[in-house]
Amino acid sequence: MTGHGPDILNRDSGLLWHPYSTLAAGVSYAVTGAEGVRLSLSGADGEHTVVDGMASWWSAVHGYRNPRLDAAAHAQLEDFSHVMFGGLTHAPAVELAEKLIELAPAGLQHVFLADSGSISVEVALKLALQYQYERGQGHRQRFAALRGGYHGDTFATMRVCDPVDGMHSQFAGQGTDNVFLPRPPAAALNSAGTWDADADALAAWETQARELIGAHAQELAAIVCEPILQGAGGMYVYDPHVLVILRELADEHGLLLIFDEIATGFGRTGRFFATHWVDITPDVMCVGKALTGGYLTLAAMMCTSEVAQVLDDSGSPLMHGPTFMGNPLACAVANASLSLLTEDDPEHPGQQRWQQQLQRLQTGLREGLAPAAEFSGVRQVRQLGGVGVVQLTEPVRVAEVTKIAVENGAWVRPFRDLVYVMPPYVCSSEDLAQLTRAVVTAVGEVHGR
Ligand SMILES: *Cc1c(COP(=O)(O)O)cnc(C)c1O
Repeated sequence: MTGHGPDILNRDSGLLWHPYSTLAAGVSYAVTGAEGVRLSLSGADGEHTVVDGMASWWSAVHGYRNPRLDAAAHAQLEDFSHVMFGGLTHAPAVELAEKLIELAPAGLQHVFLADSGSISVEVALKLALQYQYERGQGHRQRFAALRGGYHGDTFATMRVCDPVDGMHSQFAGQGTDNVFLPRPPAAALNSAGTWDADADALAAWETQARELIGAHAQELAAIVCEPILQGAGGMYVYDPHVLVILRELADEHGLLLIFDEIATGFGRTGRFFATHWVDITPDVMCVGKALTGGYLTLAAMMCTSEVAQVLDDSGSPLMHGPTFMGNPLACAVANASLSLLTEDDPEHPGQQRWQQQLQRLQTGLREGLAPAAEFSGVRQVRQLGGVGVVQLTEPVRVAEVTKIAVENGAWVRPFRDLVYVMPPYVCSSEDLAQLTRAVVTAVGEVHGR
């Protein structure tokens, strides 16, 4: 390694942009190593080894330097690391597409491999427009989305993010001609495993949604949403029955239903896909983030045969083709990651590994974060599957909370009024205790009074 932590921090300063940041803001820590669920950090205040509460933004579900994923990457490197996908194919991509179709809600049968989550959503939106055009519905140019949603940072995806709170309001001049349904009523999965939801609020929401979609039905190509859990838009959990209502509305008005499972996919909400909380299939589904276990950038868009056939019957090619489409290294690691998740748990035959892991996360996060509810500055503590959220009554003092969390052995990256964690699935009960204790301590010291 060239350069130690403080030196790297100095050289980074003013040179590199970090996500959603000014150059001046910089960062406080350099990563000098990562192994299992822990990151080695080096900062002005010294060296720290911390449990990664963020799983590198939902992605590192098997932790770092996982032997199986490392081996898959090495093996593919020995074969070939990249070839163009235009006019060529290869085993890692075909195997991955077959696996995804097997795991996805029944009916999704075709796969487009994209190089990031945002791009997979772009492709989904493009597919919806092409689908409507080939059905003689080319006037359908707009999309319906949920308030509070987040679907990426590229231009078309920005326009289906929440138009006010969605991080992109300064680009409103680029046109947000889309239709936004109110945020669905909040719901919570209780410890008995059933949903606490407000039936009256849901009925009121349904009335509004029906009116809005009805009023714009002829202009709309598709409805797009994050099923059950809105991530970057506020770590917000809503009533699964909303998905059933959206399915009905889409069918009634000839719209495609697009589910963005980029954050929720691969077990994070306690079902393999969040869609599995209800018995419906979207027309189009996007996955990303945890697809390669956090090793390489890769995403996928899947759709039903009914949709794909409309394009193919018209001889209409799906007009997208990134240079690094179907990258073999990424596909090989994704295949290893999906195998790891879905294999039988060695200690619990008949249960897949991810199910066992999610049960441990659920319990660890629920019990570990509960004490935070006592602090005066905490509005709510909530948890769904492998996601735990402490929502404050005020904006998080990010620098202070982060520093105290690191000193107590946890990496978190709060935003707005939220201190939240979605740790690697391979966390032990002890790792989870360390993580949640650090979060509770940091929130208590900074926002407890
Ligand atoms: C992260 C995310 C995206 C964007 O994925 P990138 O890989 O960052 O482009 C889109 N939708 C949702 C729900 C996400 O969480």
